[in-house]
Amino acid sequence: MFIIGLTGGIGSGKSTVARFFLQHGATVIESDVLAKEITAKGQPAYQHIIDHFGKAIIASNGELDRGKLRKIIFNDTTERQWLEACLHPGIKHLLKARAQAATSEYVIVDVPLLFEAKMEKEFDRILVIDTKEINQIARVMARDKIDAKTARQIITSQVNLQYRLDNADDIIINDADIDSLEEKVENLDILYTKLAHHKRYN
Ligand code: ADP
Repeated sequence: MFIIGLTGGIGSGKSTVARFFLQHGATVIESDVLAKEITAKGQPAYQHIIDHFGKAIIASNGELDRGKLRKIIFNDTTERQWLEACLHPGIKHLLKARAQAATSEYVIVDVPLLFEAKMEKEFDRILVIDTKEINQIARVMARDKIDAKTARQIITSQVNLQYRLDNADDIIINDADIDSLEEKVENLDILYTKLAHHKRYN
């Protein structure tokens, strides 16, 4: 299976791009959804996380309190690295299984923290979505109802733009309107279909 890792900073347009690929018939896998699945109540990672962070991390419905967890790791690199190491093998395993079961031409995997989690090797190709920081901030403020300061904080906590661009196979600059974004995805769909055929028959 031909697997493309889709990444970019918060608010760059990853989910929108993923949706367009879906409309072209691609299988789309979201790493955040995989992380949720492997940490659901009763899953092995669920218990590991409680053993590490304590029972205070359990929400009233018995599931993990993801907001609390996000807050802890946002302010603490060591804890973030611990959590990543805890989740990474399970996510990788599930990702492989899902990608192999796909019947589409290729698979798009939306991984917001692809470079931060050093997941480059999991993919045949890496697509980076980029937009000016000013757009990122405006779009995230509108979407997530957060202030500019918080939006800026999240952006600076992620790997820098140059690193992403240097390690991309394909780049979409999402500074124009949605229609032009859709057109860029259309062109990449043609490319990825060809590359997937090539991989399958060579
Ligand atoms: P990400 O998944 O990278 O965080 P999203 O795809 O959710 O980003 O985009 C963030 C917000 O910006 C969404 O509300 C989306 O509809 C909007 N958006 C994305 N691209 C554009 C664009 N080119 N023009 C206007 N709004 C956009």
